[in-house]
Amino acid sequence: MNNFSFKNRYIDLGKGFYELRKPTPVTQPSLIKFNDELGAELGMVADGHDIDKQDEVFLAGLFSGNLIHDTSEPLAMAYAGHQFGHFNPQLGDGRAIYLGELAHVEGSSLDVQLKGSGQTCYSRNGDGRAALGPVLREYLVSEAMHKLNVPTTRALAAVTTGEEVVREQLLPGGIITRTASSFIRVGSFQYFQMQEDAVSVKALADYVIERNYPYVAETQKPYIELLEAVVLRQASLIAQWMAYGFIHGVMNTDNMSIAGETIDYGPCAFMDFYNHGQVYSSIDRNGRYAYNNQASIGLWNLSRFAETLLPLFADDIDAAVEIAKDILQKYIERYDEAWLANMRAKCGLSTCDDVAANDDKTLIESLLEIMHENQADFTLTFYHLSQLNVRPGDKDTGIRDLFKKPDAIDAWLVRWRQRLSSETMDDSERQQGMRSVNPVYIPRNHQIEAVIRAAEDHDDFAPFHALHAVLQDPFQYQQGRQAYMLPPEPEEVVLQTFCGT
Ligand code: AMP
Ligand code: MG
Repeated sequence: MNNFSFKNRYIDLGKGFYELRKPTPVTQPSLIKFNDELGAELGMVADGHDIDKQDEVFLAGLFSGNLIHDTSEPLAMAYAGHQFGHFNPQLGDGRAIYLGELAHVEGSSLDVQLKGSGQTCYSRNGDGRAALGPVLREYLVSEAMHKLNVPTTRALAAVTTGEEVVREQLLPGGIITRTASSFIRVGSFQYFQMQEDAVSVKALADYVIERNYPYVAETQKPYIELLEAVVLRQASLIAQWMAYGFIHGVMNTDNMSIAGETIDYGPCAFMDFYNHGQVYSSIDRNGRYAYNNQASIGLWNLSRFAETLLPLFADDIDAAVEIAKDILQKYIERYDEAWLANMRAKCGLSTCDDVAANDDKTLIESLLEIMHENQADFTLTFYHLSQLNVRPGDKDTGIRDLFKKPDAIDAWLVRWRQRLSSETMDDSERQQGMRSVNPVYIPRNHQIEAVIRAAEDHDDFAPFHALHAVLQDPFQYQQGRQAYMLPPEPEEVVLQTFCGT
């Protein structure tokens, strides 16, 4: 079990980039879950290895921070960030500690970090801890995102600490261990830009290139290529969020990864009933990070990133700004393209020319419009659409039942079926394709809430494991697990989500 070793290339960046800091031990760590699939990919366990009691004690030690691996040099990273549009020059890992990189079977390496592992010099007034609820939420949602094929940080383990944390009330404490292609954020670059430290901005860019975008090192203008690569990845990522009804909830620049992965699951949520402007986060009072604002906020954040790199683009600032503008324009193009491609796939539309694409956009927008008016469940609408044949029939009731006024969807289905007549695939081929992009199961808010209640109030983790198991195979209808498909009953609706910090 102890056959792996951490590398730490971040430490070579030098003192200004971090605080060397060990996790603060906890009194009674206990393993809730170890992601053995990911653990095997990282060489921590042999594939198919059964975790015994001795392993569990080792893993609880490792993932609580009580046990520091011989090869790990733990540290807290420095960063800044725009929080709800306001710049904060000093954020950083206030409750997270970086353990180093582990080699991944696919060739790259993943960064490993504990979250909830105690104070650091960046904790400000925080206790450096995490409550159990947000740990379970991040575990479930990040792993669900991975299984939905959305780039994301992953959950490697979750533990309880045996300690309580003080929030509005006393809550059981937890620690999540997560992995990422990079924990560098837009805010990491802003931290040095703000100090007018161009040398460190360049060192950080070089580190990111080496770790995450090695191919740009070969190009004539690596820093410009870096911006473009980051911009394009982020555009594709947000287009995927939109296709699954995912709302990040706190897209501050310190919560936007430079590797194009979804990061920092706080008050995030998947939408049940479709609403263009849906906001769940209790702290997002003006809807800055509402569902339909995510694409433009992504661009805003990337514009902040581009600003940090300007000195690396050209000596003449005006020329550098022009270069950045051209690349940011590509964000809009990539996002629009990816959004349309995703939504067309969700609707089973595959033949494409420019005219058809334009008409498809109108068709998709009108579906979203009637979903909004009728508060149709986002996931179930596309799930039921994936069952339909070209010819109207009994199956149509599945989708009709989701709409307050079924006439609206009837009229839309007529248009959709007309459009399908120019497709070459038969019903079964089209349905197969649609089912591979329209999940049956998403981590619904009310189900996560039920998981948290059981764990916090009754020390019962069975609902957590059960929900996790369903989300392992989100595109596959699972016999006996129909309840997990359902949106909340009125009394179960979760109106707000919280950071839990
Ligand atoms: P987040 O809302 O998770 O993106 O966190 C924003 C900033 O607050 C980051 O610098 C975190 O490290 C810090 N932070 C959040 N919660 C805590 C906590 N309980 N203790 C210390 N720092 C925290
Ligand atoms: Mg954060």
